[in-house]
Amino acid sequence: MTRVAFLGLGAIGAPMARHLATDRFELAVWNRTPEKALAFASTGRSRVATTPADAARDADVVITCLPSSREVAALIDGPDGLLAGLGQGALVVDCTSGDPGTSRRIAERLAAHGVDFVDAPVSGGTTGAEKGTLTVMCGGSDAAVGRARPVLEAFAERVVHCGGVGAGDAVKAVNNALLAVHIWSAAEGLAALAKAGVDADLALEVINASSGRSNASMNLFPERVLTRAFPRTFRLGLLDKDVAIAADLARAARVPSPLLQLTAELFRAAHNALGDGADHVEAVKVVEQWAGVEIV
Ligand code: NDP
Repeated sequence: MTRVAFLGLGAIGAPMARHLATDRFELAVWNRTPEKALAFASTGRSRVATTPADAARDADVVITCLPSSREVAALIDGPDGLLAGLGQGALVVDCTSGDPGTSRRIAERLAAHGVDFVDAPVSGGTTGAEKGTLTVMCGGSDAAVGRARPVLEAFAERVVHCGGVGAGDAVKAVNNALLAVHIWSAAEGLAALAKAGVDADLALEVINASSGRSNASMNLFPERVLTRAFPRTFRLGLLDKDVAIAADLARAARVPSPLLQLTAELFRAAHNALGDGADHVEAVKVVEQWAGVEIV
């Protein structure tokens, strides 16, 4: 039986880990706020670890799912850190939407101790995590991704090996930058149509049968904006981080990227305006405020 440790039982981590709490895996869980780990373990087969080192002890595969690469890097060293528990030949799979540079540094640090690393951010949202239908984009060696695959397939429908360490993070950041562009541009367009007296439902009926449609127009706006529900599933602060990673990636590659840079600025401003608790779709409220109109 594969021994797995899962660290980070947040909005998406908890439903991912739930698929590992079965008789196919021996699961240890750790969360910074221990009450969440205790609540998780009270409903099924897992052991609550007291520290990252305790979680990693005897694990074949350690999965991390934290806000950013910074928090993952901070978990590695020290008496309670992952390296204090990890054995030679273990594998760390980081499902955080991280940044490629930090992931490469983490991989080097772990490699010095005989531990392999795969960056493995996910897409599909909390609903996909609950259903076990996530897409995972991996960066790492063929051997490491091959070892990660059977564990990732417990909560994923699709596992794509994108390249070396950092490639998964890069693909994830660009995907989420596109999500951000779609949310913001749909908000501007629908705000303009609202001011012109066009009903948002009717506008979306046309757009969603036409070439301007996107996941934002087809799902997020009908389900979350027009209903004013704005459920909190993916924090705006996390999308701000992702767009910034994509903008940095383009700048570092010397790719002219005015749209990505502007989108990073817009989401930083929205995050600052709405605070850490806001959901990513609530960025629409900033456009509405600037326009003086609600998209309903
Ligand atoms: P949440 O904010 O819900 O959860 C974050 C988790 O990280 C919590 O377990 C939190 O612990 C822990 N954490 C935060 N700071 C630290 C720290 N300094 N040290 C140790 N643990 C820490 O985030 P999500 O679960 O939504 O996101 C996790 C990752 O997945 C992010 O990179 C995000 O971009 C990505 N993602 C999220 C999606 C979503 O729909 N939510 C979709 C796709 C990717 P505590 O409970 O103590 O706060």
